[in-house]
Amino acid sequence: MITAYHRPQTLDEALALLTQPNRAPLGGGTLLSHLKSDSVEAVDLQSLSLDFVKKQGNALEIGATVTLQQLLESEHCPEAWKPALKLEAPLNIRNSATVAGTLVAGDGRSTFTSVMLALDTKLEIKSINKFELMEMELESRPPRQEVATLGLGEFLPLRLDQIRGKLITSINVPLNVKLAFDYVSRTPADKPIVCAALTQWNSGRTRLVVGGYGKSPMLAMDGTEAEGIEAAARNAFHEATDEWASAEYRMDVAATLAKRCLENL
Ligand SMILES: Cc1cc2nc3c(=O)[nH]c(=O)nc-3n(C[C@H](O)[C@H](O)[C@H](O)COP(=O)(O)OP(=O)(O)OC[C@H]3O[C@@H](n4cnc5c(N)ncnc54)[C@H](O)[C@@H]3O)c2cc1C
Repeated sequence: MITAYHRPQTLDEALALLTQPNRAPLGGGTLLSHLKSDSVEAVDLQSLSLDFVKKQGNALEIGATVTLQQLLESEHCPEAWKPALKLEAPLNIRNSATVAGTLVAGDGRSTFTSVMLALDTKLEIKSINKFELMEMELESRPPRQEVATLGLGEFLPLRLDQIRGKLITSINVPLNVKLAFDYVSRTPADKPIVCAALTQWNSGRTRLVVGGYGKSPMLAMDGTEAEGIEAAARNAFHEATDEWASAEYRMDVAATLAKRCLENL
């Protein structure tokens, strides 16, 4: 339940608000506004001008509050990302859900997170130290922002612990990478039971991510070539049984999708 609402006008103000416990950033609010058990104070990010999509050399810098639909409609959005963006959520939710909120809250069936993980996306994370903030306030100086860059792969296993009191301000995604994405689901517009996102750099570096199960998509392989991707896809789903499918089914389908992605790259 949201017990208080803050709308900071600057990043310093937002980071200062987040130094207090029980406050959480509010992106699109599609998840945060539905919390039933925890009481949180929402720190709304909409006035912070974090809704930019900028091409910088061979990378795309995407502000944290860009909505999934805004990204989908951006002139810079690669065609290969679009099926995963559309599958992430229906239009009404895409119009509200932000890229950062989705990476923080999305589960194993998140197709956007799968593709971003395959692309080895980096997150820019900012914070202000609580104790330094008090000193700065006493001395009437602006607080110093701490900036960290974290790979999505390091962020996902610990995400809520890693992000407490901090803010994702942007994500940085390489554009000079080939991407193929494929999935199997109950109906074509449904969330996947199994999905595969395969990326390949000019150097031959190949990353395979499989999704459709568990708390977050899994990095099945990060190698110098594509050799062994079918085995890697199978291995990732050894224990992936749930109400949607058995592990054996997921292992077979993941291997087939990985092979298909490689052919399509
Ligand atoms: C009808 C419906 C169906 C859904 N189905 C699914 C589903 O099948 N699978 C699934 O995974 N999700 C599902 N969701 C959840 C949700 O839509 C997504 O996870 C969504 O993309 C969250 O984005 P948001 O911007 O709305 O995040 P919010 O609700 O604003 O925030 C989500 C979390 O991210 C944190 N956060 C937001 N922005 C930042 C930031 N910049 N820095 C740090 N932390 C931040 C918040 O504090 C909060 O903990 C569903 C939601 C609805 C309403």
